[in-house]
Amino acid sequence: MKRAAIYCRVFTDNQETEGTSLQSQLQGCLDYCTGKGYTVVEQYSESYSGLSLERPKLDALREMVRNSEIDYLVIHCLDRLSRDPVHGVILIEELEKYHVTLEAVTETMDNSEVGRLISYIRGFASKLEAQKIKERTIRGKKTLALQGVLSFGGRGLFGYNYSPRVKRTQDNPGSPAKRTVNEAQAAIVKRIFTLVAEHGYGLFKVVNELNDEFIPAPAGGRWHENAAWHILHNPGYKGEYYAYRYKSIPPKNPKIISGIKNRTHILRDKSEWIPLPNVNPVIVEPELWDAAHVQLDINRRNFPINRVHHNYLLTGGHLRCGTCGHAMSSSLKKALTKDTRRYRCISAQKRNDYQPCGQKIVNADWLEEVVWERIAKILKNPKVALSQMDKERSKSTTSLDADIALKNRSLDDLNDERKRYLHQYGKGLLSEIDFETESIRIKRVTDRVLENISNLEAARQSILTAAVNYDQLSGAVEALANRVRDADFETKKLALRWLSIMVTVKPDGSVLIDGSLPPGKVGATNDTIRTGC
Ligand SMILES: [Zn+2]
Repeated sequence: MKRAAIYCRVFTDNQETEGTSLQSQLQGCLDYCTGKGYTVVEQYSESYSGLSLERPKLDALREMVRNSEIDYLVIHCLDRLSRDPVHGVILIEELEKYHVTLEAVTETMDNSEVGRLISYIRGFASKLEAQKIKERTIRGKKTLALQGVLSFGGRGLFGYNYSPRVKRTQDNPGSPAKRTVNEAQAAIVKRIFTLVAEHGYGLFKVVNELNDEFIPAPAGGRWHENAAWHILHNPGYKGEYYAYRYKSIPPKNPKIISGIKNRTHILRDKSEWIPLPNVNPVIVEPELWDAAHVQLDINRRNFPINRVHHNYLLTGGHLRCGTCGHAMSSSLKKALTKDTRRYRCISAQKRNDYQPCGQKIVNADWLEEVVWERIAKILKNPKVALSQMDKERSKSTTSLDADIALKNRSLDDLNDERKRYLHQYGKGLLSEIDFETESIRIKRVTDRVLENISNLEAARQSILTAAVNYDQLSGAVEALANRVRDADFETKKLALRWLSIMVTVKPDGSVLIDGSLPPGKVGATNDTIRTGC
């Protein structure tokens, strides 16, 4: 049996402006219930202001609701129940709590003004709640850190095993997160410090030695100088472990990978660090640590400029392998007399899990000269280059527009998702904790999408601004054309970027140069340029 109660209300003094009379409201509700097959167990009618929550009949109705005596509450329209949206929220949440469905004869939640206000307030309230939970979580973690307890972050510190926190339950007293020494990894950490401190190694030599022995890096694969640097500079290895050492900020040059923007971690000011004594067992004795750092200082002074010979013109997204489509990256062949600069397809690098494509290694001096010849020729006629650049530019705003539209659509989807959860929560199909978790997640994704959109819009704006500065730009290109013969490395890099140069080395060794310039191809055996290919 579907049990229904009917509630009708007028405000005596202005019955006319309040709309329908009690009698017609009641009739409408009764007809509705008959139509739906509800059994009307009670009818309530009263003359009271809709701005008050203290109404005798309404009180009686709420008592029925709380006693689960009805399944449906039928009203003529939403403002009969309440004219105050905040009261509306209170009443509706009470109805939902006792699984009573509210139905209005003439309207739905979405097409009535009061209904929309109620939805808005509920959405707003859940947003506030999500924010509060987030703050509580952060505060909680900081409190733990201040008590010297390892609570989060750094769990994957190389050299240690991490056992996560065990929560306290009825039959388990629980334990905080702990680190114990991982002997195999600790030996590598110790060795890195020793190589620097006792043998005077620089980072380059350290990683070479580890790689030669096929010792895997912390992240797997080959060691890079960066990883060794981080180990040498982490005071955790001498037992000084801090929480809040780093903070995450948006990077200077964000890379947007499948819609998720990466973050950069920077060291906080030392005053913000929270020491966690007794969290990290010592791997490196303080004396060894100090000796290594003295040596690192000496190395820095002796080799102030690193890798002068590592200036590769085509790195940074300008060179592609024509066999497999991957990038080609710099590869230095060391020899006693003279090092050879080369480019090699990244599929051939051991640290990538790609199948090597078999592309030949290319001599960098030769390739760079060929490419620069071609660019020099283009720059002799700056007008052509500029008109091409202009075409590129309008192409790139179109694709940005499409990206922005796409992101806006995912915002709509997120909003729909949020509404769906709210609905489920309202119906009691979703627990409060699940609802909060989902709300926080959606909020986080939404924030990220919003940040993405603002970045895309900034990029779009800068392209449009660049279009306005066309004259300025044409001057710059002409100036570059004049300097083309004796252009230095930085100028060359800049030209490559301006002209969006993309060089492809074909399997037969021929070179295709593409970008904001008329397409051209150069042969592998001689570097004369055959245009219009
Ligand atoms: Zn390849």
